[in-house]
Amino acid sequence: MLKIFNSLSKNIEEFKPIKLGEVGMYACGPTVYDYPHIGHGRKYVNDDVLKRVLEVVEGYKVEHVQNITDVGHLVSDADEGEDKLEKGAKKAGKTVWEVAQEFTDYFLKEMDSLNIIRPDIECKATDHIPEQVELIKKIIENGYGYDTAEAVYFDVTKFEDYGKLFGQSLEDKLVGVREEVVTDNSKKHPADFALWFKRVGKYADHVMHWESPWGDGFPGWHIECSAMSMKYLGEQIDLHTGGEDHLSIHHPNEIAQSEAATGKKPFVKYWFHSLFLAVDGKKMSKSLGNVYKVADIVEKGFSPMALRYYYLSAHYRKQMNFSWEGMEGVSNSYKKLKKEFLSLRVEGGQDKNVFGKNAVELSGRETYFRDEFVNAVENDLNMSEALAVARAVLKDDILSSFEKRRLVENFDKVFGLKLSEHDDMPIEVPAEVTELVNKREEMRKSKQWAESDSLRLEIEKLGYKVSDFFDGVKVEKI
Ligand SMILES: [Zn+2]
Repeated sequence: MLKIFNSLSKNIEEFKPIKLGEVGMYACGPTVYDYPHIGHGRKYVNDDVLKRVLEVVEGYKVEHVQNITDVGHLVSDADEGEDKLEKGAKKAGKTVWEVAQEFTDYFLKEMDSLNIIRPDIECKATDHIPEQVELIKKIIENGYGYDTAEAVYFDVTKFEDYGKLFGQSLEDKLVGVREEVVTDNSKKHPADFALWFKRVGKYADHVMHWESPWGDGFPGWHIECSAMSMKYLGEQIDLHTGGEDHLSIHHPNEIAQSEAATGKKPFVKYWFHSLFLAVDGKKMSKSLGNVYKVADIVEKGFSPMALRYYYLSAHYRKQMNFSWEGMEGVSNSYKKLKKEFLSLRVEGGQDKNVFGKNAVELSGRETYFRDEFVNAVENDLNMSEALAVARAVLKDDILSSFEKRRLVENFDKVFGLKLSEHDDMPIEVPAEVTELVNKREEMRKSKQWAESDSLRLEIEKLGYKVSDFFDGVKVEKI
């Protein structure tokens, strides 16, 4: 059984979902006003690994919902400041809607390049305004919200334990409030947070706005996650993920407003938080010039799969340190693992499932390694240990090539490292080249070697090299 650290209880707990066989998983998604960086990549890969373990090893059906924040997330987690999206739009000379769409597309592309399985539902905050309004109404009806001239606030003093959630004190929650910004003086408590902002005062010109019972305005950031997780997964959910930055404000606020609205506890059974990534031991920042995107890694000649291997080597509850030397090292480890795997020249039938009730019959030695792998991942996702098991399988003297391939192919359903694909570098192959490659494959299949060779030369003239493997071809730029 999977054992996982629950950041709310601060204990390692056995994972038991509310409904038998099914898991509802909500992941806090991107705020689409800027490019995602490799720190974001780490968080989403960790979510992806958890989801793969639940599905592949534990046999659950996972419903994965992830939001896209395209409104309401202001400069800090506290409620003051300029809207990040509007700021980004102004800078780029575009509309807020254009900026949000552009960064959403970019985010999805980067996450695809890391071989992250897309969520079942990707929902935008701006598509769920009525749901957010309904939820705010309930919170007010239940006595947890109040209306001022500028906004509707959640009254944190009405919610017992608000100050203790995730072991953060109320003082921690106030750190985000900056001195230089103007605070709404009619707030009852400085930690009260906005559920709805009115289009008055400093937000009089806010571009995105909707009608509501409290006047024209726009939702606060936190309410979207409560509203959308409830819409798609119900009032109580199994699993909620996020980055460590959400521990102090965003997630306590989600819990407070959700439980205040429904009266049901707990809103979430297990909270899963990924720690941040540092670069050369320092926090990533634009001023240090060390904010890297996945695309920057690829530009230096590394496969996104090598970066994914880097992520897997660091435990999700430890801060990860990225360096270019480290990247070089893991890239070599990744290439070595892949080479060993691909050199098992066996075909067909290996992809049969080795996990759970529907596993195929395994030899004693195979069972031993399968269990080692399962123990590693079930131990709070010890992925570096799981990778060590895969390496040990490939080096083993007793297992047959067939068994090795069958095991590691199954492990890779959890790693997501594309070990069986010769091509893991995302190169843009022109349609013209692809057409020639396919034609050449046909010639080879019908043993027309002269034609196939002349097609190879044609492909090379276009600047691409094609290499043959027993189970496919690899196309590279020359
Ligand atoms: Zn959220």
